[in-house]
Amino acid sequence: MRLFKFGGASIATPERALALLPILATENEPVVVVVSAMGKTTNALEVIVNTACGGNFTEAAELAAALQEQHLLYASTLLSEEIYVETAALLSGYFNELQRAVAAVDAARYDWSYDQVVCLGEVFSTIIISMLLRERHLPYLWIDARTFISTDNTYRDAVVDWNRSRQQVQAVAGRRLKQGKSVITQGFIGAAQDGSSVTLGREGSDYTAAILAAMLGLESVTIWKDVEGLQNADPKLFNNTVKIEAITYNEVIEMAFYGAQIIHPKTIKPLQNNNIPLYVKCFLDPSLPGTVIKAEADDAHYPPLIVLKENQVLLQVTTRDFSFITEDNLSALYAIFHERKIKINLIQNAAISFVACIDNRADKIRELTNVLAQNYKVLHNEGLQLLTIRHHTPQIVEELTTGKQVLLKQETRKTIQVIMKRRD
Ligand code: ASP
Ligand code: MG
Repeated sequence: MRLFKFGGASIATPERALALLPILATENEPVVVVVSAMGKTTNALEVIVNTACGGNFTEAAELAAALQEQHLLYASTLLSEEIYVETAALLSGYFNELQRAVAAVDAARYDWSYDQVVCLGEVFSTIIISMLLRERHLPYLWIDARTFISTDNTYRDAVVDWNRSRQQVQAVAGRRLKQGKSVITQGFIGAAQDGSSVTLGREGSDYTAAILAAMLGLESVTIWKDVEGLQNADPKLFNNTVKIEAITYNEVIEMAFYGAQIIHPKTIKPLQNNNIPLYVKCFLDPSLPGTVIKAEADDAHYPPLIVLKENQVLLQVTTRDFSFITEDNLSALYAIFHERKIKINLIQNAAISFVACIDNRADKIRELTNVLAQNYKVLHNEGLQLLTIRHHTPQIVEELTTGKQVLLKQETRKTIQVIMKRRD
């Protein structure tokens, strides 16, 4: 049995959503379908939370109402009148949940507020898609993923409780599949112990797909996108990208870790651990071969794999008393980052200083800097880019760093990382 994950782009419009039908109709076995929020819904929900956090609750509620209108228009275009009426009623219950979540937004609990609001995008989309499937005589059981993906309360980057989730997933989805029937659920979301909603990090639907495939022992995962497959770099940022036919888990996890937007970074581990291949295919033309990600790939001669992460901050932390940055200082420093759940994208240490490159999250950086400043002198440099190239060649490094001010470079045999700034 297989799992199909459809990203936001594949259901961005009602016309696009129809492309799911031939893909699903040709499956002989039951399927697990995981769907993202439609198009840019997640971004729209982020705007709603931020608006409410800024104290503009009326405007946030209006934006939520406008989002409901958009979903209703989408559903009415896609569905027959009869099914539409039922869909609208189902949606209205969850749009009420959205309005309640917006009213409860608390700027002091930003991450929590974010998850209560943002999690709903995939609930809306899966309701509409499951009704489309029903109308077309493809009966899928719709499951609210918050009933089976249990996590801790790290809002916006929740950690899955693997044992508990597995039991629940097997009890609900597993049983249905054994009866020869298919299921549809949301990616990206789950629930914490207290029942509040959580999200698994942006682009987290891929991760949900991998979790479910591992827990249900499925044969493969296919991520349906609007591109032909994985490219060696983001075509929106670079010219002359090339499509990769087959690539190892190892390469992809490295690229995702350093910020490639291709796949959620946590997606690969459950697949690799269970040796489940991941296909990336184009829903616009399912006959194209796409990319396969698996344990071993024949072609060891990859093109340079390029990842550019914007909006980076470089923190330089120096001991005030001139003590060396050795294990004791390092472990204290790591603990400070770890306690605040700040991921370090690159580090380097010297005799009395330590340099860390992190994502620019103003609130987190302010708090971090205050704590560090108690024992260390802290300098920080903003507006940077982190360039990572696997399988680099001198030419590609030259090409991508020319005209940039390079602040730091780290190189191993397979990977080069450069922190750089555009010259003004
Ligand atoms: N809808 C979420 C996002 O846009 C999750 C996903 O698409 O994977 O990040
Ligand atoms: Mg997406």
